[in-house]
Amino acid sequence: MEMARVIVDVPSKDTDRPFDYLIPERLRPWIEVGSRVGVPFGHRTLQGFVVSLHPRPEMETSKMKPIQEILDVMPPLSPELIELGEWMKERYACRLITALQSMLPTALKGKAERYISLGDGSGLEAEQPDSLFALLPESELEQQLIAFVSQRGEVSLQQLTRAFPDAAQAIKGLIERGRLSEHQQIKDKLQKKTLKAVGLAVTAEEAEGILASFPAKARRQKEILQHLLEMEPFLPLPLKDLLQTLGVTAGTVKALADKGWVTLEDVEVFRDPYRGRNFKPSEPLALTSEQQHVYDRIVRTLDQRAHGVFLLHGVTGSGKTEIYLQTIARCLDQGRQAIVLVPEISLTPQMVERFKGRFGDRVAVMHSRLSDGERYDEWRKIREGRASVVVGARSAVFAPFDNLGLIIMDEEHETSYKQEETPKYHARDVAIHRAYRTGAAVILGSATPSLESYHAARSQAQDDFAPVLLEMKARALGNKLPAVRVIDMREELREGNRSMFSRPLHEAIAGRLERGEQTVLLLNRRGYSTFVMCRSCGYVAGCPECDISLTYHQKSNNLRCHYCGYAAKTPEVCPDCGSEHIRYFGTGTQRVEEELAKLFPGIRVIRMDVDTTTEKGSHEKLLKQFREKKADVLLGTQMVAKGLDFPDVTLVGVITADSALNLPDFRAAEKTFQLLTQVAGRAGRHQLPGEVVIQSYTPEHYSIVHASGHDYLSFVKDELKHRKALHYPPYCRLILVTLSHEQLPLLVRMAENFAAGIKSEADRRGWFGSLDRFDASALDILGPVASPIPRLKNRYRFQCMIKWRGTMDAVSLTRSVAEQLQDSARDSTLQISIDVDPQMLM
Ligand code: ADP
Ligand code: ZN
Ligand code: ZN
Repeated sequence: MEMARVIVDVPSKDTDRPFDYLIPERLRPWIEVGSRVGVPFGHRTLQGFVVSLHPRPEMETSKMKPIQEILDVMPPLSPELIELGEWMKERYACRLITALQSMLPTALKGKAERYISLGDGSGLEAEQPDSLFALLPESELEQQLIAFVSQRGEVSLQQLTRAFPDAAQAIKGLIERGRLSEHQQIKDKLQKKTLKAVGLAVTAEEAEGILASFPAKARRQKEILQHLLEMEPFLPLPLKDLLQTLGVTAGTVKALADKGWVTLEDVEVFRDPYRGRNFKPSEPLALTSEQQHVYDRIVRTLDQRAHGVFLLHGVTGSGKTEIYLQTIARCLDQGRQAIVLVPEISLTPQMVERFKGRFGDRVAVMHSRLSDGERYDEWRKIREGRASVVVGARSAVFAPFDNLGLIIMDEEHETSYKQEETPKYHARDVAIHRAYRTGAAVILGSATPSLESYHAARSQAQDDFAPVLLEMKARALGNKLPAVRVIDMREELREGNRSMFSRPLHEAIAGRLERGEQTVLLLNRRGYSTFVMCRSCGYVAGCPECDISLTYHQKSNNLRCHYCGYAAKTPEVCPDCGSEHIRYFGTGTQRVEEELAKLFPGIRVIRMDVDTTTEKGSHEKLLKQFREKKADVLLGTQMVAKGLDFPDVTLVGVITADSALNLPDFRAAEKTFQLLTQVAGRAGRHQLPGEVVIQSYTPEHYSIVHASGHDYLSFVKDELKHRKALHYPPYCRLILVTLSHEQLPLLVRMAENFAAGIKSEADRRGWFGSLDRFDASALDILGPVASPIPRLKNRYRFQCMIKWRGTMDAVSLTRSVAEQLQDSARDSTLQISIDVDPQMLM
């Protein structure tokens, strides 16, 4: 193949298509679909990805430029992933390059750098041999520059200007005259990690001989050789270690290397975030009959190497993880690979341990707490075939396996599977689509499946993507689900209890303290914020750019905007009225901690929230302390609800269950139900029976009633009724379009134009109309209205919500109307963001 189509790394409308490049002879054996290349583009060199290969076209190719360089030995993408990217582009109305970039570790985001080498003397000199310019003698500085470059063959411009800080003009002159030449080359943000290592360059016998004839004064050199000889089986040693053990200098080692007796070279090392940790090996457990049934069904599909989607609805503790482990084992036996997706927040060491314990080194782990370097190395482990299982958060769905057999998504209802930045993809949909194209199976596991998945499984639609419902109703260890008590907090208040702890919860905690058992306390922080308010005049400290209240951070004693990062000192007196009664509000975990200390003197509390888990590894450290029973209570936000399995936890308390119920989000009830069910599942997972106490101001709400009865089906029934009546998913799909501009009147006009454009375009295709029409395809648009955050980073925001149902291509319709509007708006500061199937509505 002599020609390649390349997608370049510039996310704009005009570059959102492949460009043609010639493949030079020397690169032909290397270039494949998925290769990352450096290509000339205008005056720049850009990184790009080869998306297809073609024979030399018959048309004139002299205009076509050649690919300049190839950036990896092994292509980081594959034809399969490129196709997936093309699907994402359509599905989420994003650019192809944005989709492709989201599949790769940050380390591979290369940028062009400028390099200087000696020129061939062409330039002004050659063109105008007797110009005055060419005749000028080179200055001393210029001579130094030329000497510097010629000694090194090639230097980066950065290096050169660092060595000669005031030579910019001179360098430019030399380039113009052709004495120096400049070219660009892509350099990765991050390099492979290497280490200087020392090895023996001679055989053992030769080394003995050398040692025997060594002059006595070269004692140091002798020691080094001796040491290397003693190392079995003569593996190179890290230079650093050698220097440290023997107390010798690098110069001494170098002297030996110069004599040709030892080698001194760079060897590649892999950064392994789990190096040095021992994982207890585990054996497959004998399955319970419920597990066996589920396992057999999934394996049937695996053995046929067919595509299939399973929704595994199993109560907390029903042994879903064991199903994951054993189906993965089957998949590996077939020589295929597996992806396990877990929500970021539950990627705890406990979770990792279960997979590493079963599959050892074949497991790669990817989460956001890894450094860029560690992530890159874990990714390469997958790409180079050294790993065949990956356990990771959302983006692990793009793991570059070449023979994928199984994708597992644990806690499939979690909103963190949706990416909130472009490309705004949902990992569940990507997983199902990817598996469909590669003939792999998908397991979506949850104790509280999303209504979308559950509805699709129940409706038994005859399509390839509707999941098969598999259920596990009993806990694997045979113990019961914990008893749940709902406490009406209004009642408590009426009876004079002003504490945030109801009397039953107070008693229950006291009982645990007596018996030496442990308690998990959840504070549902969704919907709360800790803001600063003046009690005298009601002033609330807000962000000057974003129209939302600032969040109080105790540790740094300042106020921060969680949207734009604005920070300010906490005011001592009210800026409006001068009152001193200004303080922070909201039920922070900190306040709960203080209250616990007051009620139970000497109680040991571990607090887990954004403030105590910012440092790398702190999350793990806190959990370890709790497991080792260094605390009586684990108190925290959503973080404590997920995936923890501690034998001595017999009490779970929820401080206020309904704080999130009134948020303007149609999933508020679903999220509340899920959270309560999850956290209740933390209690009594082992021998000791568990108890759950839920405090609520609206105990009659169906999400709380059904959560307390562990009754998912009744909850679904009630919730689906609401969704159907109000036309919300799963009875239709949504597209949230947010427009932003610095000038409000202009923005309002454009938002109205947008809505009108959608209406008339949909009308033209016969789709426009209310969703009450239960027949064919329908599309309706709500808005424009001001966004829940009406101003962000000094830009005003308006939104429209498109509701639609049917087989139409509503995404491409939305995209084309948005692009037309953007084209017609002469001023380019209008921004339009399209969120297909949004999860965050506020
Ligand atoms: P889930 O992921 O569904 O919440 P887990 O996989 O964590 O449940 O299982 C709960 C507990 O039951 C774990 O301690 C696990 O080791 C145990 N377990 C699961 N399956 C079996 C089995 N077949 N035999 C014995 N114990 C099991
Ligand atoms: Zn005030
Ligand atoms: Zn702000």
